[in-house]
Amino acid sequence: MDQQDSLKYGETCIICSHQKEIGIHLYTSFICSDCEKEMINTETKDPSYHYYVQRLKVITTPHIPS
Ligand SMILES: [Zn+2]
Repeated sequence: MDQQDSLKYGETCIICSHQKEIGIHLYTSFICSDCEKEMINTETKDPSYHYYVQRLKVITTPHIPS
C-alpha cells in the first residue's frame, strides 16, 4: 500500500484537541483551520480570546527539560 496513507491521520489541534488534517503549524504545534478562523474572527474584547491566548501560551513557552 501507499506509505502516504500513514500520514493522513491528521494532527491534534492544541486549541480544540481534535484530530484535523487541515490547519497551520505554529512552532512545533498544530492549529486546525477551524480554530485558526475562530481566532482571527475573535476580538480581543471577547472572553474567548483569552482562552485562545492561554492555549497559545503552551506553544510560546518552551518546555525546559529537567
Ligand atoms: Zn482546532
